[in-house]
Amino acid sequence: MSGPALRIGQGWDTHRLAEGRPLILGGVTVPSDLGLDGHSDADILLHAITDALLGALALGDIGMHFPDTDPAWKGAASDRFLHHALSLVQGQGYQIANVDTTVILQRPRLKDFRTAIRANLAGILGIPADFLSVKFKTAEQVGPVGERRSAEAQAVVLLLRT
Ligand code: MG
Repeated sequence: MSGPALRIGQGWDTHRLAEGRPLILGGVTVPSDLGLDGHSDADILLHAITDALLGALALGDIGMHFPDTDPAWKGAASDRFLHHALSLVQGQGYQIANVDTTVILQRPRLKDFRTAIRANLAGILGIPADFLSVKFKTAEQVGPVGERRSAEAQAVVLLLRT
């Protein structure tokens, strides 16, 4: 395979918070009065990592691969998006070196879910959990995230040519 030995990708996502929706982060359902609203399951963390993988190989973005106007993706579990991006990465001869992520959510506090989220993400990506960082921040009650109108996730991924 040709191409540089290392490639880096960055991803970001946001969804609105709404009543009557589940809060699913990294494929893990977190008990909460408000959940993430969207066409799919609105898992911002999986969407950010998917975009980081696509970005590392300049393969466009999640909306290009999975249009939210397509009924096929309505209510879709977002691990399908991540599996697809991972298959593209592997198909181009790369493997994941490490992933670093941040979830910005005002409430609930997420620290008790870190182990489960890391384990689930590591399982999807086929890497050890210690190659995968999940950090949590509040927004200090400022702005749409701080006012619990939305939540955000960011991801950076480094790829190694195999
Ligand atoms: Mg999204």
